[in-house]
Amino acid sequence: MSECLFCRITNGSLPTEFVYEDDHVVAFRDINPAAPVHILVVPRAHIETVADLGGDTTGVMSRLTAAANRIARESGVDADGYRLIVNCGRDGGQTVFHLHMHLLGGRKMPELAA
Ligand code: 5GP
Ligand code: ZN
Repeated sequence: MSECLFCRITNGSLPTEFVYEDDHVVAFRDINPAAPVHILVVPRAHIETVADLGGDTTGVMSRLTAAANRIARESGVDADGYRLIVNCGRDGGQTVFHLHMHLLGGRKMPELAA
């Protein structure tokens, strides 16, 4: 999976500043931010989409959410609120096929389209 962009970021072969990291999760700023705070929270393990979770990987979403909540507090967006998004597959808007959670904050988010 050496060609996977987020594997290259998580394993350090594509140098990227991490705003958070632990044994299971790394987080870094989105290259094309959609909000004043736009952080990608990414498991170190290569899992393509959220649809692949289950069994041994059931806890991955809890780890991503815990890290995102911590980054939200540290970046100060927790007071006014923030949005966590996981896009799944092409119709879900996923463009990088290594599971990731978007943390968006620092402005009022629009209502979701119908
Ligand atoms: P998706 O559309 O798959 O949910 O989100 C992928 C995100 O990765 C996009 O918001 C895109 O801007 C971001 N992205 C793509 N390539 C890079 C990169 O090389 N570095 C960083 N930091 N973000 C990237
Ligand atoms: Zn990967």
